Amino acid sequence: MKCKYCNCDCIKKGIRNCKQKYQCKNCKRYQIETYSKSVIPKEKYQWVKQLNNEGCGISSISRLLEISKSSTQRLIERIASMLKPPDICETGESYEIDELRTYCGSKKKECWIMYAINKISGAVIDFCVGRRTKENIKRITDSVIKLNPKRVYTDGLNIYPSLIPKSIHKVFEYCTNRIERKNLSLRTHLKRISRKTICFTKNERMLRNCLSIYFDPQLLIYEIPIMHNCLNIR
Ligand SMILES: [Zn+2]
Repeated sequence: MKCKYCNCDCIKKGIRNCKQKYQCKNCKRYQIETYSKSVIPKEKYQWVKQLNNEGCGISSISRLLEISKSSTQRLIERIASMLKPPDICETGESYEIDELRTYCGSKKKECWIMYAINKISGAVIDFCVGRRTKENIKRITDSVIKLNPKRVYTDGLNIYPSLIPKSIHKVFEYCTNRIERKNLSLRTHLKRISRKTICFTKNERMLRNCLSIYFDPQLLIYEIPIMHNCLNIR
């Protein structure tokens, strides 16, 4: 047998649970040919998605699904990598762009969630996590301008006028009502950005993953509706 870490030859060394164990001659690691321990069942993927969107943090998801915290983190990462960005083919619509302030690691390290929504349907067009710089905001405005918008509504941040053509850019009081309301939903539905809790984001990549799971439109279809089959409620 070849080592799965370094591809060198392995020698037979011991038996555990009626299975032959091997040790690599080069890196000395132990391994077996096939692992029978089941991986996390598929329906737990759906549960991770749903619990993430219902205000559960990583610790609470791992407690509810009875998997370890590191498995939960890995699952979130895997789910986020499986999601495809939605292909939006609409033109002549109105959009709102806004930024939501949060922090990453410590309160001193501020971090912004910048995103754009369709003013009528509320669908998220694109989002970006990071510092509130011109480059980051440009990524959002670019994906909005690509859709040939009728109007783009933003707040009075001084970066927008240089990025959005003046003819379609609108800034006035209460023009970003819809996205401001969505900010409140975000703060309620995602544990890591809700206020007055001790939960916070330790890692910007994880915030990005949780947001892409939250913003994924396909989540509206609940694939596995029976709860007591997946969750072991004692
Ligand atoms: Zn090896």
